[in-house]
Amino acid sequence: MTPSLTTRSWQQQLDFDQRHLWHPYTSMTDPLPCYHVKTANGCDIELSSGERLVDGMSSWWAAIHGYNHPRLNAAAHQQIDRLSHVMFGGLTHEPAVTLAERLIKLTPAGLDRVFIADSGSVSVEVAIKMALQYWVGREQPQKNQLLTVRGGYHGDTFAAMSVCDPVNGMHHLFKHALCNQQFVDKPRLSFWQDWDPAEEHQLRQVFEQQHQRLAAVILEPVVQGAGGMRMYHPNYLRVLRSLCDEFGLLLICDEIATGFGRSGKLFASEFADITPDILCVGKALTSGYMTLAAVVTNADVATAVSAEKAGGALMHGPTFMGNPLACAVAAESLAMIAEGHWQQQVAQIEQQLQQQLNPLQQLAGVNEVRVLGAIGVVEMQQPIDVAAAQQLFIQRGVWIRPFGRLLYIMPPYLIEPEQLSRVTAAMAEYARSVSA
Ligand code: PMP
Repeated sequence: MTPSLTTRSWQQQLDFDQRHLWHPYTSMTDPLPCYHVKTANGCDIELSSGERLVDGMSSWWAAIHGYNHPRLNAAAHQQIDRLSHVMFGGLTHEPAVTLAERLIKLTPAGLDRVFIADSGSVSVEVAIKMALQYWVGREQPQKNQLLTVRGGYHGDTFAAMSVCDPVNGMHHLFKHALCNQQFVDKPRLSFWQDWDPAEEHQLRQVFEQQHQRLAAVILEPVVQGAGGMRMYHPNYLRVLRSLCDEFGLLLICDEIATGFGRSGKLFASEFADITPDILCVGKALTSGYMTLAAVVTNADVATAVSAEKAGGALMHGPTFMGNPLACAVAAESLAMIAEGHWQQQVAQIEQQLQQQLNPLQQLAGVNEVRVLGAIGVVEMQQPIDVAAAQQLFIQRGVWIRPFGRLLYIMPPYLIEPEQLSRVTAAMAEYARSVSA
């Protein structure tokens, strides 16, 4: 029998949780309701209260292969019997090497130097350090600011927050503690609109005026996630790449949410056919098994960062860097990605989302419906009452976590058409209920 962690009932645990445990972006004095999970399998999350929910969220973009996957479980079991963790300073091991090898194979040519980080936010910190140290190494230390687009999201640590959207992000709370970065308007044209070369003018002006103090551009390619679930025109990214080349800036692509097939491409930057200088991946890297991220860069960046003038070494080295358990699961998840089934799965999800969500566009309470790859967004006119909406979703047997005016899903790739229909039907029911 599996030993139980506690003798408390799940109701008692919920009660303890409510009084003592912080949840993401949640008040400690007036928390939103929380549900107690017993198990999760494939695309199902089973609550301790008995409901079985079809997962629409992949645990925030992560669980692309679903829960309790036999291959990922086997990778974790095999690894734990050999080596759970050793420091990465001065030691290495097979899971880290195999993971790096597979990551290099999947990422665009030229990106072949890997820093394994503990989480998405930390990988953004590392990417920013790389960009700043790069210019110290190139003897241009005055190039020490980041340029980014409004509406972005890159994580909750301080350097990452400094490049999140300054209005929707957390700038107002921490403005005295945040580095001052440069912002341009969010990309104006959506993924589906015709390209307008006027988009380039504003960008070019900023590059012309500011390039001497700009180290790098950082942005989420094509899909702006937590900052608003907007999908923008790939030419915007193409223009940025060429301006970075022309004016001597590094390009950092944050593919933490979009990486590994979610957008319909392996990496969303493929829509623009560009290669960044620095690439951040996370979330789906372990298919949601444990926290892990990576920063992949090229020889030019690695060499400059390692120059004596830049201090001779990249100044980052967390205790759990390269954790073998996480690397072993990630390596197996990448092997599954390399087998390629995701392509057909994501294409099918996209087609079904278009069929079932696009008609909601007609409803009075709906502002816009957007579908790209295995991402479905119903942007409402008014903010969503999260607690009430979630109650409805749980009654309908689905797990969806809205935020702001956004009802959005990004299910595990192995979701069955009937399961996905259940999720979209619940979204439609909510959208209709507030449109009446
Ligand atoms: N960048 C993007 C684009 C993200 O969506 C997220 C997570 N929502 C992060 C960075 C931060 O990752 P983590 O939560 O693992 O720190």
